[in-house]
Amino acid sequence: MTVNPNDISEAQGSVETPLITVASGDGIGPEIMDAALKVLEAGGARFQAEPIEIGEKVYLSGISAGITPEAWDSLRRTRVFFKAPITTPQGGGYKSLNVTVRKSLGLFANVRPCAAYAPYIATKHPDMDVVIVRENEEDLYAGIEHRQTDEVYQCLKLISRPGCEKIVRYAFEYARAYGRKKVTCMVKDNIMKLTDGLFAKVFDEISAEYSDIAAEHYIIDIGTARLADAPERFDVIVTPNLYGDIISDVAAEVAGSVGLGASANIGASCAMFEAIHGSAPDIAGKNIANPSGLILAGVMMLVHLGQSEAASRIHNAWLKTVEDGFGTGDMKPTEQPLGTKEFAQAVVERMGQHPATLPKANYAADAKPITIQQPERKAPAVKEMVGVDVFVQHAGAADALAEALQAASNEAFELVLITNRGVKVWPEGLPETFCTDHWRCRFHATGKAGILDVADLLGKLGTAGIDAIKTENLYTFDGERGYSLGQGQ
Ligand code: NAD
Repeated sequence: MTVNPNDISEAQGSVETPLITVASGDGIGPEIMDAALKVLEAGGARFQAEPIEIGEKVYLSGISAGITPEAWDSLRRTRVFFKAPITTPQGGGYKSLNVTVRKSLGLFANVRPCAAYAPYIATKHPDMDVVIVRENEEDLYAGIEHRQTDEVYQCLKLISRPGCEKIVRYAFEYARAYGRKKVTCMVKDNIMKLTDGLFAKVFDEISAEYSDIAAEHYIIDIGTARLADAPERFDVIVTPNLYGDIISDVAAEVAGSVGLGASANIGASCAMFEAIHGSAPDIAGKNIANPSGLILAGVMMLVHLGQSEAASRIHNAWLKTVEDGFGTGDMKPTEQPLGTKEFAQAVVERMGQHPATLPKANYAADAKPITIQQPERKAPAVKEMVGVDVFVQHAGAADALAEALQAASNEAFELVLITNRGVKVWPEGLPETFCTDHWRCRFHATGKAGILDVADLLGKLGTAGIDAIKTENLYTFDGERGYSLGQGQ
């Protein structure tokens, strides 16, 4: 079932033999995709593969997103994407294809099972069996970054209530569908009380609807440490995008090898399945890459397509191959390491067999994609402007800046605070505080204020020669403060 990207079929597939989009990618991609497709075919998977070209060649042809309009057409038609890793060319200007595909197709959940296969694959944590459910669309991965002053750059961390509701509900539905007992929320809400605080709050609200599943919280730093040290204490972990990106690699590594990791990117109407590793250009073309991550991603895809029997057969054949001591070099097998093709062939030869000691895979006959109810939009809150933070580039001291701001301010606002990188430096700052050229100047409204008052204030600051680089309005929502206090305020 080798795929040829020039051979795009117009067929629509059928329920029996669905059409899927397949990309062989770059580096080791074509080798492991070939191997994975052979294994899936031998296991009785039913699908028709529609090949697309993505990645390095497309980037270098001048398409900065790495994906052509024809490839988008295919993805939107088939709604299932089986993807090998791609190479993102070095240098600026190239956007991450993965992030683009995930966000454009609304693939909000990134699901990564990380299990140990001890004693057959070396691990310090033989009882580990964790699933990381990572939010896939928001957080710092919104990719909104700015250079604001000579010294300071910013990246916006965006967390939405619907985004939190979708991922947390997905994690609980996943736990229920796969007979898992506990969902752990990992955030840093002791520091980011509004953004991570919202994620934790939504977790508490939704976990209350799943009395059959235990729920717990960890702060992400200690949670990551515990995951690395004692992963067997975790079952399903749900976490925002950046933390999820990091801890899912930690989890895959401590389970045995990143070469084994598979992931599913799930949306309301589309899904993408891939190995977690990259295109490994250092070993490309040598027939030594491990195809396991992509084979196991294929198993996840078959469950998604409702082909549980084939999924179980393939997964069990893979487990039996591992138990028999076979693997690629990175798996440190007890037998002589096999090449990519030979390992795939060893799996093919074990179709119909089961592992003797590793837990057997047995996907429910009626397994189907996990669907979640769409979040209900809440009625808008009563929003009142109570002030504005004006960010200023300034090379001098805080007191001099305060004096200039007070002299220039209009009557609608009163300067109450200046911070530098979040720490209060006026009034009564500490001389020890290191200051950059980026100052957050907080004005409280003296009465009812609106955006025109902010515009007027900015005009006055500009006239006074103050370099205002951006503003954030301060609001209350139904009377509740919608902004954080300055450190030391
Ligand atoms: P990588 O995962 O490709 O390689 C890291 C190390 O792991 C290398 O030593 C490699 O040889 C080894 N390795 C990876 N997969 C293996 C496998 N299946 N079998 C055996 N060994 C394996 O990460 P990298 O080197 O940081 O990135 C290489 C390229 O891949 C970059 O262009 C990066 O942007 C891209 N990338 C793509 C994806 C994706 O498409 N999903 C993900 C990560 C990185």
